[in-house]
Amino acid sequence: MNGEEMPDAGVHMSMTPVLHADRLAGVEHGAIHSPIHTSVQYTFERTSDLIDLFQGRLKGRFNYARSGTPTIAALERKITHLEGGRETVCFASGMAAISAVFLSLLRAGDHIVVSRFLFGGTVNLLDTLQGFGVHVSFVDTCDVRNVRAEVGENTRLVFVETVANPATQIPDLESIGQLCRERELLFIVDNTVTSPALFRPATVGAGLVVNSLSKTLGGHGVALGGAVTDTGRFDWTLYPNIAARYRNADPAQWGIQQLRKKGLRDVGGALSSDHAHRIAIGVETLVLRATQTGGTALALARFLREHAAIGEVHYPGLETHPQHELAKRLFANGAWLLSFELKRANDMIPFLDRLRVAGRGTGMGDNRTLVIPVAPTIYWEIDREVREQMKISDGLIRVSIGLEDPRDLIRDFDEALQLCS
Ligand SMILES: *Cc1c(COP(=O)(O)O)cnc(C)c1O
Repeated sequence: MNGEEMPDAGVHMSMTPVLHADRLAGVEHGAIHSPIHTSVQYTFERTSDLIDLFQGRLKGRFNYARSGTPTIAALERKITHLEGGRETVCFASGMAAISAVFLSLLRAGDHIVVSRFLFGGTVNLLDTLQGFGVHVSFVDTCDVRNVRAEVGENTRLVFVETVANPATQIPDLESIGQLCRERELLFIVDNTVTSPALFRPATVGAGLVVNSLSKTLGGHGVALGGAVTDTGRFDWTLYPNIAARYRNADPAQWGIQQLRKKGLRDVGGALSSDHAHRIAIGVETLVLRATQTGGTALALARFLREHAAIGEVHYPGLETHPQHELAKRLFANGAWLLSFELKRANDMIPFLDRLRVAGRGTGMGDNRTLVIPVAPTIYWEIDREVREQMKISDGLIRVSIGLEDPRDLIRDFDEALQLCS
C-alpha cells in the first residue's frame, strides 16, 4: 500500500438484533447460542397439537427435520433481521434455494425474464427448466428497457443478481423494481455477491431475496447453505401460481408457505442443523468482514489499475466502472469480488502460479483470498461468443478478497506481476 491509507469502506448496518436473536428467543439454561438440534423426529404430548401442526394452526413447533429444526429456525430469524424481511426459509445450498424458488413458483407455459450475467449453476438450472416448458428470456438487465421489451402476458417474475460474477455488471435495480411494481411481477434478487451488509434488495422492491450462505454470510467456508427471504414487498394475491390449499392463510404468508412446503418438504434440499449452526456463527461477524474486504478490494483494484501489465479492472468501487454511481448510491461499499485482465494472456498461468498469499481456487466470499482464471475453468463449457457477451476474456482473472492484511496481498500481487513485464 506504500503508506497509503486504507479506503473507508465502513458498513453502517446494526448487527445488534442478530447477535441477541438466540438469547431473546429464550434458549434453555440462558445459553447465548441456539443448540444444535440433531433430532429428525419430534413427538407431541397431545395428538391434537400434532394435527394442528400439520394443518398449519400451530406455529413454532417441528415435526420432521426435512421441513426445519429449531437450529435452522434460529438461523432463519437472523437472516430475516439482516434482510429487513418478514420471513426466511433456509436450504442445503444456494442452488437448493434457487431450485426451490423456481420449482415451487413456476409452471409449464410460464415466462420469466432473467439477467444474461448469472451464476453458472443458475444458468444450467434454467436450461433444465426450459426442458420442463418454462420460457426464459436472457437480457442485459443493466438497461431496464431490455427487461420491459420482454414482459408479456405469461411473464411471472424477473430474476437478477446484484453484482455479476465475474465481470461485476450491476442491473438497473431501482428501475426494474419499479417496472415489476407497475406490471405486478415478482422481482427476485440474488444478493449473494453484496450480502445484506452492503445492500437490502427490499429497498428496490424485491419480493424475494436469495442468499447463498456458503459464501460471505458464513465466511469461514466450512458449510454450504442457502436462504430465501420474503421481504413483504410483493402482494401474493397477484400471483396466479399459488395453490388453493396455500391461499387459506393471511395473504402475506402465501408465497413463503408454498415455498416452505413445496420447496423444502417436497424438493427436499434441507439444510442440516450442524451446518446451520456453523453458518450462524459466521453471520455474527458479517459487517466487520464486509467492511474489511471492501477496503482491501478497493485498495487492490486501485493498485491493479495503475500497473503497466494490467488491462481492464472490473470493480464497482472504481470511478471508471460503468455503474459506479449506481453502486455508490445503493451499496455500502463495492463488495469483495473483483476481476482484471493481464495485457498478455500468456502471462496468466505463470503469474497465478507465483502468488503466495492468494490461493488458486474456485470459491468466493471465503475469509481467505482466492484467485481463478475464469475462461478455462468455470466457463470452459460456455461458447466463446457467449463468454464475450459476458465480458469474459481469455485472460480474465477473478479475485475473491479475504481478511488478509491488504499490504500482504498487494505485495503478493506486485511480486507476481514482476514476471509479466
Ligand atoms: C455461489 C452462488 C450461488 C450458489 O450457491 P451455493 O451455496 O454454492 O449453492 C448462487 N448465486 C450466486 C450469485 C453465487 O455466487
